[in-house]
Amino acid sequence: MSEPAASNPLLALQTHLPPSFDEIAPEHVEPAISQLLEDLHQAMAQIEADVQPTWSSRIEDLTRRFEPLQLAWGAVGHLTGVRNSPELRAAHEAVQPAVVELLTRVGQSQPLYAAAVALRDGPDGSSLDEAQRRVLDASIRGAELSGVALEGSQKARFNEIQMELAELSTTFSNNVLDATKAYELILRSPAEVDGLPTTARELAAQSYREARGAEAGAPQAAEDEATAEQGPWRITLDGPSLSPFLQHATRRDLREQVYRAYVSRASEGDTDNRRVIDRILLLRAEKAGLLGFADFASLSLARKMADSVAEIRDLLGELRERAWPAAQRDHEELQAFAVEHGFEGELRHWDVGFWAERLREHRYAITDEQLRPYFPLPKVLDGLFALAERLFEVKVVAADGEAPVWHEDVRFFRIVDASSGAPRAAFYLDPYSRPAEKRGGAWMADCLGRSTTLAGPGEAVRLPIAYLVCNGTPPVGERPSLMTFREVETLFHEFGHGLQHMLTTVDRDGAAGIDNVEWDAVELPSQFMENWCYHQPTLRGFSGHWETGDPLPQALFDKLLAARTYRAGSDTLRQLYFGLTDLALHDGYQPSTERSPFDVQREVAESCTVLTPLPEDRFLCAFSHIFAGGYAAGYYSYKWAEVLSADAFGAFEDAGLEDDAAVRATGRRFRDTVLALGGSRHPMKVFEAFRGRGPATEALLRHAGLTG
Ligand code: ZN
Repeated sequence: MSEPAASNPLLALQTHLPPSFDEIAPEHVEPAISQLLEDLHQAMAQIEADVQPTWSSRIEDLTRRFEPLQLAWGAVGHLTGVRNSPELRAAHEAVQPAVVELLTRVGQSQPLYAAAVALRDGPDGSSLDEAQRRVLDASIRGAELSGVALEGSQKARFNEIQMELAELSTTFSNNVLDATKAYELILRSPAEVDGLPTTARELAAQSYREARGAEAGAPQAAEDEATAEQGPWRITLDGPSLSPFLQHATRRDLREQVYRAYVSRASEGDTDNRRVIDRILLLRAEKAGLLGFADFASLSLARKMADSVAEIRDLLGELRERAWPAAQRDHEELQAFAVEHGFEGELRHWDVGFWAERLREHRYAITDEQLRPYFPLPKVLDGLFALAERLFEVKVVAADGEAPVWHEDVRFFRIVDASSGAPRAAFYLDPYSRPAEKRGGAWMADCLGRSTTLAGPGEAVRLPIAYLVCNGTPPVGERPSLMTFREVETLFHEFGHGLQHMLTTVDRDGAAGIDNVEWDAVELPSQFMENWCYHQPTLRGFSGHWETGDPLPQALFDKLLAARTYRAGSDTLRQLYFGLTDLALHDGYQPSTERSPFDVQREVAESCTVLTPLPEDRFLCAFSHIFAGGYAAGYYSYKWAEVLSADAFGAFEDAGLEDDAAVRATGRRFRDTVLALGGSRHPMKVFEAFRGRGPATEALLRHAGLTG
């Protein structure tokens, strides 16, 4: 028997109200989403027949039309991240393909595409404002990049390529996964795990128990009871197992074994990705050609802030020039330090991580546990909100209970104008880790976006609501959540994303907040906020010992600051190595027997690695970012956005961080440009409006200690 629609909370969501998280349950998902999809499929022919080349028809009417699905699917997606369960996952998986299918149909709709083009090029086109124009352009470009403008055999070929690329990307990640799983190093004597911290030994023993327990029908032997103290220990190529081993294991020969296995992962046998890479690169080049681009890099840049490969190469080249000598110095220092502490010979690849950790301990001797007591979450929030008020003239007010939440630890806040008290936005904060039901990592996502089209009854505009989700240390008993410094930085980071979503002043659908912000510019406000964690007066405001209230001692702050730039040259160079290899592979290069992708990797390595890669180093075979993720010809974005965020913070330094009036004035300008304008203007124009000039690398280099 089917439920009446009214009793399904996913069908009763209101465009202008927070979702009813206290009512939504997994059993509501399938019936609600199926019904919404069916309604839209049935309406599609009519929607396509009715669409007019006007803003109100093509954009606003469509926005309203799709809002019920947007609301319901948005709430479901959010819950899969924060309140997962086998039931919810099954329901989500059951309807997801149908949702994707509908969205693809809409994205590739010929009549909707034609209406957008007619609006842009027709009589109404000239009266569109900049935000409208950008929304239209993005929608037209999106359709074109999915092949809507192609015809006949070209279209057929394009669809074939898309299909094959999707399969290749899955094959690529499966190979990486299988190759990673296939490797294990079993250690049985305590001497072999000498140096490994307790947490790593615990993990290695647990990994042994799980792997042996998982072998079907294996009889329980005494050694299945692996323990952290007695072993056996199982080391794998998974990050949490591999990194501590390379950093701490004193057995050099074992580090070498693991390192060699790691860099040649997925490059031979059943899980060989070499041919997959060749094929992906060839198909990407062909796809770019069909869409009228010279190469895949140009296609990728069509949707990014950076204009050209040359512009990116200039920027990365500038950073490389500073990072290269610094990385050489890092290496010489490390070599000298190692020799001083009993090492003989030249450091090899498997020695670098190990000695870098020894040198770090030697210099900065600072642990998470020393810092934690100074960062109780409530104090950190107070300091963060005070900073937002000082910089952006907004007040954050606790509003717990004013919106239904999905877990009792989740808090709800409102943001109001500090002078008038007028409401601006709201956000949820889900601060603690809940491994059983919550995805790892931290993220900001939009719950509702600012919109006049979707305003509620009697409202001029719908105000934005954000989700801020972290995985911080939970409170224990009476003790509040005591955060690591990294957790504090993460909170500031996500709050920065949230500010761009929440303090937008754009009313146009598709351009408010983080909507329509280019991929390589998205991390600007978030990384910008992280800088304040290292600003001492700000830090004094958000640190306070949870028992005594004392601020963080000067000596600890000094170490924290010094540790920030430790091996920055080496780390920067490594990112440039990845970014430049990615660019070189997508910028007109075609795989051939004369010049394989690994030859390209080696050419880039000449100017980007201090130690020449080993002959068997085929890290490309596991470079999932660019072969199985969204970063193809886009890996540079990490550094690109870091230049922007550091330079934005540089504006505050230029104005004088100790000059309160100047900081406030600069903060208002940041709010009125970067935070307010969102996707309504090209990010370069937004940046220039804030900074008075284009981005420069000076601040990033200075913060990283790379100017000397
Ligand atoms: Zn981010």
